[in-house]
Amino acid sequence: MNDRAGSDAEGPRDEGRFAVAREAGGTLHETPGIHRLLVESVRDYAIFVLDRTGHILTWNPGAQRLKGYTADEVIGRHFSIFYPRDAVERGHPVHELEIAEAEGRYEEEGWRIRKDGTRFWANVIITALRDDDGELIGYAKITRDLTDRRAAHVTAIADARKVAEAEAASRSKSEFLAAMSHELRTPLSSIGAYIDILAYGIQGPLNEAQRDAVERIRRGQQHLLALINDLLNFGMVDAGRISYHIAPVHLCEVIESVMPLIEPLAHGRRIAVDWQARDADVVALADRTRLEQVLLNLVSNAIKYNEPGGSVAVRHVLRDGRAIMEVSDTGAGIPAEDTEAIFEPFTQLGRSLTSPHEGTGLGLAISRDLARGMNGDLTVRSAVGEGSTFTLTLPAGE
Ligand code: ADP
Repeated sequence: MNDRAGSDAEGPRDEGRFAVAREAGGTLHETPGIHRLLVESVRDYAIFVLDRTGHILTWNPGAQRLKGYTADEVIGRHFSIFYPRDAVERGHPVHELEIAEAEGRYEEEGWRIRKDGTRFWANVIITALRDDDGELIGYAKITRDLTDRRAAHVTAIADARKVAEAEAASRSKSEFLAAMSHELRTPLSSIGAYIDILAYGIQGPLNEAQRDAVERIRRGQQHLLALINDLLNFGMVDAGRISYHIAPVHLCEVIESVMPLIEPLAHGRRIAVDWQARDADVVALADRTRLEQVLLNLVSNAIKYNEPGGSVAVRHVLRDGRAIMEVSDTGAGIPAEDTEAIFEPFTQLGRSLTSPHEGTGLGLAISRDLARGMNGDLTVRSAVGEGSTFTLTLPAGE
């Protein structure tokens, strides 16, 4: 092999020799055929020489391993056999030699074909070889298989793109929800105001039937408003747009501020709600407003999915260094196979068009997300026919 073969890839020729010679006690550089030995020991690179027209003159073990041809099969053939057909038709291999001749060196990455027809992603360097008079005598070609690296690279790009797309989708979803709920809330608020005007008899007294109709409109309006608030809330929680103001919170105080909101519902459905005395207080590290939201949802569910005459108990306790709030009811209970599903958005058990329960099926999904957002969790234990206990666990505070 000509001395200059591969000299670009190996660094300046003399420096290379010097390093080899020093390592081997200054004798190797005199060994005849040292470059040939070097090339033949390389298994990860295909290193071979082409004549001026691109026909293969030498072949190393790396080339055999990479491309699948033995030396006998390949020497004398044109190097365009390694290229995909469309590249050959475009004159790509010949074009590479022209650039290498004009500029001394050509490098690219692209698909190449093995003997068995499979493709690999190659890094290719072609170096023009010239004799001492500067006359072109051929080319040295070094090829590396970068298929794995490219696959990893492509996967990384695809992953990054997927993440970006998911983020954009989630952003536009929550922006859509925010815009929609604003658009919907504005007319609903004015409907509410006109309901009040009618109900208070400001424009004249109402008879019994009219009053009944106005109350039905009001219930519908309030239900829609609650639904929209739930959707907006879910959109925000889902998009991770909620910020938490974590501070020590007395669970007793949280319960005391939620109970007055619950009483009308409990009274209407004849459910007794029982909660612990103040002296058993526990302090949690949480966002008070979010905590109230979770408790309100758990207690209203415990009332909604209960039987008239049933009861609800709210307990709090410090267990294993965690602040725990439990909401138990004597309702119908939840079948074991559904105890995870109820925390999924829009899941409503036994929901049918004639079902008397209203809601969005978002309450528990939001509550669990909020609990987890405060470094806590929300779980349920339930027995069909006996009732359910929802357990909210939070970090304990001082
Ligand atoms: P919503 O109450 O709006 O339907 P939730 O996410 O709060 O939505 O609850 C999801 C479903 O879980 C409810 O539709 C109901 O079927 C079931 N569920 C929730 N709480 C209870 C409970 N305390 N007892 C029995 N079933 C419940």
